[in-house]
Amino acid sequence: MFRCPISARFHALILLFLICFSLSCRAENCTPLQIKSPDHPRELEMIIDEARRKKVRISLLGGGYSQGNQTCANNVIQINIREMNQLISLDIEKNLITVQSGMTWKRLQEHLTPFGLGVAAMQSYSDFSIGGSLGVNAHGQDLHWNPVSSTVESVKVLLTDGRHLHASRTENHDLFRAVIGTYGLVGIITEITLRVVPNHTLLKRPELVKTQDYEKLFFNEYKNNKRLALHSARLSINPLFLFRNVIVVNYYDTGELAPPPLELLPPNLPPAEKINLMKTSWLARFARTTMEFFLYEKSARMSRNQAMGESVVSLKNTVPGTRDILQEYFVPPEQLQPFLNALRNWSKKHQDFELVNATLRWVNADKDSLLPYAPEDRFAIVLFMNLPDTSEAEKAMTKATRELIDLTLSMGGRYYLPYALYASRDQLNRAYPEFEQLLKAKQLWDTGDLLTSKLYQAYAPQRKAHIRNPKAAL
Ligand SMILES: Cc1cc2nc3c(=O)[nH]c(=O)nc-3n(C[C@H](O)[C@H](O)[C@H](O)COP(=O)(O)OP(=O)(O)OC[C@H]3O[C@@H](n4cnc5c(N)ncnc54)[C@H](O)[C@@H]3O)c2cc1C
Repeated sequence: MFRCPISARFHALILLFLICFSLSCRAENCTPLQIKSPDHPRELEMIIDEARRKKVRISLLGGGYSQGNQTCANNVIQINIREMNQLISLDIEKNLITVQSGMTWKRLQEHLTPFGLGVAAMQSYSDFSIGGSLGVNAHGQDLHWNPVSSTVESVKVLLTDGRHLHASRTENHDLFRAVIGTYGLVGIITEITLRVVPNHTLLKRPELVKTQDYEKLFFNEYKNNKRLALHSARLSINPLFLFRNVIVVNYYDTGELAPPPLELLPPNLPPAEKINLMKTSWLARFARTTMEFFLYEKSARMSRNQAMGESVVSLKNTVPGTRDILQEYFVPPEQLQPFLNALRNWSKKHQDFELVNATLRWVNADKDSLLPYAPEDRFAIVLFMNLPDTSEAEKAMTKATRELIDLTLSMGGRYYLPYALYASRDQLNRAYPEFEQLLKAKQLWDTGDLLTSKLYQAYAPQRKAHIRNPKAAL
């Protein structure tokens, strides 16, 4: 595939920046033997072939925003999929698009916007890769299209034995289930066919509600409202009213195709970089919800692609000697209030970190993935925390997180796997009883056990290293 040198250098710079940014969010370092960035399936096949012959393991890197080295392990060939990012086909009649898996959601939106089309489901930020999003089976703000797998018609997978297979709900269904949400441990998703939706103009309407009323409002007014396209809810982190209020931001579908982007106002989101203030200032945390609701969160009209197009780069941590982590817990709907009450006590007990953001989400039951975080409908609670970059803080966070995981499990919930690997092996097995099935699927499809990551190494009983000295093999 032809690329001019300037664009190649530009891509390399962007990639370096993104890798550095995601590394700054990671819990631990990781040293692959090599990073390879194929830009064609043939090149990818050759890398796999070489790894198989030389018995060196492989890890898959998409956008690299997972935070526990789910994309990496020591002494592996790390394959950066981001250069495999081409548009394969767009069927405007059927609203289906096929792309290579390294494409970002942002790029996908750029392809769709001129045709009046938009992304149906993705995360809250658009810099993630589509393959990586399917690798975790991400979820976002759309109440209907959720999680991402619900918009996937089919995938093309390169297995480590060199075979390319198509998989969907009607063809190789076992493989389809096994590659979605299983963290790159079964096969390499090379192409994805996604269902897309009209890029309508949305009307953004923020509301400030009491958290105790939220659940009732959600089921009576939001969940089944056909006009409600996107929905998010940010809990108050004011230390005096912790989790007592919530800013609900609803985006209503006007049913009109969005005019060209320049004719609409920008999304008018609260400035994400102000999040850094929350890490150092009690006053900022105290005033946040009030400031956001009365100053920033204004009603506005924007296209669906604009509303879903924010960049994660604006969240860059600027507080020296600290790092940011995310965590997410999925609980049955009736457990939302009890969970939030317990979470309030938990965060008062653990003062070694700053809670800088807490969001509520709705996640529909995931019937696609072999390893679902939401086997039934769930409320999700997302926590964004800042902690000192020290081993003491890491130890304290491991202990505190394990308490929170136990709480979630006792309420019939699960925790999300793309974040730091704080859970014990026992907790992983209790949260994801399907993990055993994943290991069996891996044996079936990844016959040489080539695909690995620190997540796999932390939780799966390990087979022996393929070779004693992988460095010498390359
Ligand atoms: C600031 C921030 C916000 C986030 N918001 C959300 C959110 O709103 N919703 C949500 O669900 N999650 C969210 N996440 C969590 C999560 O990290 C991302 O959803 C996911 O990592 C994004 O894709 P990526 O391209 O960065 O994937 P990566 O981190 O690169 O990869 C994720 C997993 O998929 C595997 N993988 C990558 N490419 C492929 C492929 N082609 N074939 C097979 N496996 C592959 C990798 O090996 C890895 O195990 C967020 C994370 C951060 C840091």
